[in-house]
Amino acid sequence: MPTLPADPLAIAQALLRCRSVTPAEGGALAYLQRLLAGAGFAVERMTFSEPGTPDIENLYARIGSAAPHLVFAGHTDVVPPGEEALWKRPPFGGEIGDGELYGRGAVDMKGAIACAVAAVLDHLQESGGKPKGSISFLITGDEESVAVNGTVKLLKWAAARGEKFDHCILAEPSNAAELGDAIKIGRRGSLNGTLVVSGRQGHVAYPHLAENPIRGLVTLTGALMALRLDLGSDHFDASNLEFTSVDVGNQTVNLIPAEARARFNIRFNDLHTQASLRALIEQRVAQAADGARWRIAWEPSNADVFLTKPGPFVDLVVEAIAEVTGRKPALSTSGGTSDARFIKDYCPVLEFGLVGQTMHQVDERVAVNDLARLTAIYRRVLDSYGA
Ligand SMILES: [Zn+2]
Repeated sequence: MPTLPADPLAIAQALLRCRSVTPAEGGALAYLQRLLAGAGFAVERMTFSEPGTPDIENLYARIGSAAPHLVFAGHTDVVPPGEEALWKRPPFGGEIGDGELYGRGAVDMKGAIACAVAAVLDHLQESGGKPKGSISFLITGDEESVAVNGTVKLLKWAAARGEKFDHCILAEPSNAAELGDAIKIGRRGSLNGTLVVSGRQGHVAYPHLAENPIRGLVTLTGALMALRLDLGSDHFDASNLEFTSVDVGNQTVNLIPAEARARFNIRFNDLHTQASLRALIEQRVAQAADGARWRIAWEPSNADVFLTKPGPFVDLVVEAIAEVTGRKPALSTSGGTSDARFIKDYCPVLEFGLVGQTMHQVDERVAVNDLARLTAIYRRVLDSYGA
């Protein structure tokens, strides 16, 4: 068994030295497997496939058989480093400079996985090698890319063999500027659509023989931009629709085009569902159409809104953060989507990890001191969980 206390810095360095750019495993899961198996975890490795996408390796490790069951979720894959020569320290070197650990994945999210593992190892050593309930790790190698052979399939696989989770901590970098800034307790949903207005092609000099779809498109995009979707809810900002592209594709100066399109994305809060939102948008367009011939092509979305309501579990994590950092984290629902949108179908999930400032950037790095503090926070959560 590893000696106490486990060193999150050494674990993070070992992980950072693995070139696990999606879809490569790069040795990161193999390393975690050795470490967790050595501490008594039952470790499973599985490869998921899907036609048209690369095979992806994943890991599930559990210790204990009783409830409550706390699962740490995360990913060891990273985005590419970009031009490696631009880095102050090599992106896969695990090197330290000025009290900071450099490397692709330092904050997103190998660093936080190292903290969770170190906290669990220490917790187990102090409780005689066995947790009160169960602790597990659900780690994918497919988060940063298309994410089809990762968490979704991992959760299904676990459910099929009877795994039941009570709570999940997803170790994404939830803090904007400083450790203790924010816990993410929910995420907005995301929905994409294209508004298509049809006209009749013709010569610009003979507009009475044609029908210009741009006129209708301007009216309808204007109507949608003026539409207030809501005023926000208890835990969410107001929902928002943004047009992302307006396309006619006409290269000719004297031609009225046959069709015009505008693409948009909606980030929506818990006052809506995808279905209610589609109905609302279509109703508004129909009201404003004034004869324009339109349709909306909706894209399928697996990004529903979710909220883990504040309660004892959220309180426990807030308290652990306050004890270590002296700060009271905001309960946030801002930002893009994450794998939490899939986990929420199985158990309450919140996100708390490192500071996200340098994620996906050249010179991604984490303060060594933050690794120690995040480990201390996770450790407090483990010690109070189910106590
Ligand atoms: Zn991430």
